Amino acid sequence: MEKLEHIGIAVKNLDESNRLFAKLLGKQHYKTEEVTAEGVRTSFFDLNGVKIELLEATQPNSPVAKFIEKRGEGIHHLAFEVNNIHESIQSYSDQGFSLLNAEPKTGADNKLIAFMHPKSTNGVLIELCQEKK
Ligand code: ZN
Repeated sequence: MEKLEHIGIAVKNLDESNRLFAKLLGKQHYKTEEVTAEGVRTSFFDLNGVKIELLEATQPNSPVAKFIEKRGEGIHHLAFEVNNIHESIQSYSDQGFSLLNAEPKTGADNKLIAFMHPKSTNGVLIELCQEKK
């Protein structure tokens, strides 16, 4: 892991939460992006290199919708930057971590991403991410 890249927060209403977090952080989000394959609309705030990603479900059966249904709004995942996501997936699998993605997929913010199942990480959903080159 290189650094904490962003913290993902599941929200019910992205527009309302954008306003709330703008007030809280003292700055506006710098982008909004829909990831159709994941059934989410996201927005990003940058706080000196550590980002906050707000996630709103766009489909009732998407992972974020299910998360909110079960646990309510709140911290959804921690995303860590890695240098080589293919190597990281392999190496964490070899060490016994449970990867939800055997191959990286395209996430928001120009990233390749893979998730680790929270059951192997003390209940925390972990996202590995690498900037697409
Ligand atoms: Zn994320």
